[in-house]
Amino acid sequence: MQTDESTYQALAIAARAGADYRRRIASADTTPIETYAQVLARFAAPVPEAGGESAAIVQELIDKATGGIRAMTAPRFFGWVIGSSHPTGVAADWLTSAWGQNAANVLAAPAACAVEAVVAGWVLDLLDLPRESSVGVVSGATVANTVCLAAARGEVLRRAGWDVEADGLFGAPEITVLIGGDAHATVLSGLRYLGLGAKRVVEIATDSLGRMQPSALEAALKERNGPTIVIAQAGQINTGVSDPFVAIAPLARETGAWLHIDGAFGLWAAASPKHRHLVAGAELADSWGTDGHKWLQTPYDGSFAIVRDAEAHRRAMTITASYLPSAAGGERDPTAYVMELSRRARGFAMWAMIKQLGRAGVARMVEQDIAVAQAMAAGMSAIPGVEVIVPVELNQFMVRFGDDDALTLATVEQIQHDAICFIGASQWRGQWVMRVSVCSIATTAEDGRVTVEAVRAAWAKVGSRAPV
Ligand SMILES: *Cc1c(COP(=O)(O)O)cnc(C)c1O
Repeated sequence: MQTDESTYQALAIAARAGADYRRRIASADTTPIETYAQVLARFAAPVPEAGGESAAIVQELIDKATGGIRAMTAPRFFGWVIGSSHPTGVAADWLTSAWGQNAANVLAAPAACAVEAVVAGWVLDLLDLPRESSVGVVSGATVANTVCLAAARGEVLRRAGWDVEADGLFGAPEITVLIGGDAHATVLSGLRYLGLGAKRVVEIATDSLGRMQPSALEAALKERNGPTIVIAQAGQINTGVSDPFVAIAPLARETGAWLHIDGAFGLWAAASPKHRHLVAGAELADSWGTDGHKWLQTPYDGSFAIVRDAEAHRRAMTITASYLPSAAGGERDPTAYVMELSRRARGFAMWAMIKQLGRAGVARMVEQDIAVAQAMAAGMSAIPGVEVIVPVELNQFMVRFGDDDALTLATVEQIQHDAICFIGASQWRGQWVMRVSVCSIATTAEDGRVTVEAVRAAWAKVGSRAPV
């Protein structure tokens, strides 16, 4: 075990390299990146037989990894749905690691647990969700949705006279799971983990933009009886649209079904007075999963599992053991709302980001990203041969080049190669598209204009190569 000064220097080296990297990437004109194979070749080595020296190890990591670090925090990164890991959140996250807190209970980690309790209340306020809801701070929306669906599973079975927490699923009344046909793949993974089966679900028809059709949900609810969970969505990953909660929620309520909303990024529209109407009625659901690391710009990883019925949430998740002091004074026990026992103190970074932005800043960011997405879509659709295939409602949109799969994929590849911006590909209704996601506080209107020009140039290159 080292106790020399080098151990502490390693922290300073990391801090300096991190700050330098962020400064460089924030103003980089292009962001080329090495391939996996290139980076692997540099790292591949047998297990080191002897240990090393802290500062040298950290420096070696910086030297060997930096070329393969994707510029996800850069202002013109529009891949997948990825937030910018804002430096304020990152600084809090560095401290989180340096403090080395295991955020499992209030006696072990008072500051971590207290901050998490405050953040839980702030998130309900920002998203205007029922204030009595409980909030678990988890690693991602995949897990957030799974935690919420575990609470849903337990509660709908409890109402049918079955204790799933004690007796499991063997012999339990069958649960019907109704889910929109354009749900995120990870929700189906959650259903798999919970023994509800990814393929047993009933898919509810969606419209051309991916919105659940209330009439189809109503018919499906009529057909089934017994315990039922309805899974809706705020923010479809390709189109950005949300399900019509105002129509859906009463249908679920009247039939005693539990309504869950996967709102990984889309739920944050609620934080903007201008765009709140896009998720109107979201507050009528029973549970919500949403990310911090997407539209709140927290570093990876951090998300919220939110459940209106806090008792159902606790029944599904509580861990008890003699050596784990319970929250005798009525304090919020963080492990009662998550799957993990030992856990990173994610609340610090979330607290820092909400302090950084404030209510007004979150709203401004959401509004700016939507405005940039709409301006970019307009700019791209003015390029001959380029089509924005559905209207832009939120921060996500899709583009086709020459109305052709191969040309679209080739153009995406060219754009990635030019590295002025990063945009990825996706499939929608059986066709390849370029999918643009504007999910960063760093992105300005000027970045949008530069990106449109980068797309124009890439398409010109691909178009000129294409056979006529
Ligand atoms: C990103 C996303 C998820 C998965 O979230 P992770 O944070 O990646 O686990 C689920 N649903 C939707 C709609 C998403 O956009």
